[in-house]
Amino acid sequence: TPRVRFAPSPTGYLHLGGLRTALYNYLFAKSRNGTFILRIEDTDQTRKVEGSIDTLVADLEWAGIECHEGPKHGGMFGPYVQSERLHIYQDYMNKLLDNGSAYKCFCTERRLNLLRRDAVRSQLTPKYDNRCRNLTAAEIKEKINNGTPYCVRFKLSSDCSSFEDLIFGGIAYDVSLNEGDPVLMKSDGFPTYHFANVVDDYLMNITHVLRGVEWQISTTKHLLIYKAFGWSPPQYGHLPLIVNSDGTKLSKRQSDVKVEDYRNNGILPLALVNYITLSGGGFDHVPGAGVRLKTMDQLAEEFQIERISSHPSRLNPDLLQECNRLDIKRMMSSSERTRLVTKLQELVKQTYPEQSLNVTDEHVNSVLNWAITRITRIEDLVSPKFGFLWILPSRNQEDINVDLLKKLLGHLESLNDFEEGTIKSRLKEFSSNNDVKFPVLMKMLRSVLSGLSEGPSVAEMMHLLGKSQSLDRIKAIVR
Ligand code: GLU
Repeated sequence: TPRVRFAPSPTGYLHLGGLRTALYNYLFAKSRNGTFILRIEDTDQTRKVEGSIDTLVADLEWAGIECHEGPKHGGMFGPYVQSERLHIYQDYMNKLLDNGSAYKCFCTERRLNLLRRDAVRSQLTPKYDNRCRNLTAAEIKEKINNGTPYCVRFKLSSDCSSFEDLIFGGIAYDVSLNEGDPVLMKSDGFPTYHFANVVDDYLMNITHVLRGVEWQISTTKHLLIYKAFGWSPPQYGHLPLIVNSDGTKLSKRQSDVKVEDYRNNGILPLALVNYITLSGGGFDHVPGAGVRLKTMDQLAEEFQIERISSHPSRLNPDLLQECNRLDIKRMMSSSERTRLVTKLQELVKQTYPEQSLNVTDEHVNSVLNWAITRITRIEDLVSPKFGFLWILPSRNQEDINVDLLKKLLGHLESLNDFEEGTIKSRLKEFSSNNDVKFPVLMKMLRSVLSGLSEGPSVAEMMHLLGKSQSLDRIKAIVR
């Protein structure tokens, strides 16, 4: 059974691309009874942001992605945070030094800078010239005795210069032609990403690596490291870039890439998860056939790596709204309904703090039933347009005929059934019996009930507000 991992760096927050990587790994594991592991790659201590692990775990949990092993979940292959595994990397480093696949490099920062400068001047891509590969044993000994700081580099070769990508097919890249020998261990004893990543994937028995396409260029380097150890590598698949609907690149600075921002904007977890699966393939979505919301179980059942496209995945924000609407609908006909009710009640209280509110469960429930074809986010229901549902807004008193309303009150009070149709016929009847044009009566009533000049039909509003609330609003004017 597969063992897969999501291996983010703790740089502060989970973005959409990270969520997709986590999701696809999770679904892959889930579809095959495998294990999904969270591993924190924090070897670059300068990029580390305090509290990131908690945020990451919380974001994944929110999205419905369960880690089977990880820093908060434990497991037999821990620790799952790379900075807690430094002694392990040290041991494995020594193996590569011993078998001649790696060497100590004593080049100073100054020399490396000069190399870089010269390369840039001659318009070449800067790369290390592998000078320390050729130091004699005596030279090395002397430098060590002098306490010269060193890093450890890996000897690149042209072996493993291609691999079969699960998503992109055959990829050829001879890293030794393009790069200098890479650092495996820095002088401060911290491993680099490449080294720690390979050692951990091996030690954690990872069978498949699904990661962003930005890592594709590193894969042959990783394969060389596996070879140097004599280990057999996992299979690799690279997920295509996620781009905007116009094909432009998503940037981390754009506000809509943080999972947290989606959540704070009223996007529901299953909606976001479905949205991510809609572009880029991997599932049974029929293009152009309208969105069908799927549960995590259904997504896992359908998921096939072979069906993932290698073309960039274009996001379509309209589909996100549709996914969210469908998710609200799904929750309303499930046991999660009470969560929506509570959420809406809280939102109303936050939005209209000093008002006397109409937030009984009964009222909130009927508002939700009515709203499902009209909104895509629960938050929409506290926007000014729907404020009348909760509070009695200020009204324009000018066009109000108090006597007429008084009379109408009696007619409405005697209504036992406060359904939309009944209310409507009673209002019609009243307007013709009292010689007031129906649209004029409606305009007046709408203003009395909501302070608005447009919105849902008056009978609909009254039904939504309920009998006592509707009558109270009229009484407040005629009194
Ligand atoms: N730590 C890398 C990242 O932040 C992980 C890449 C990989 O999955 O190998 O994306």
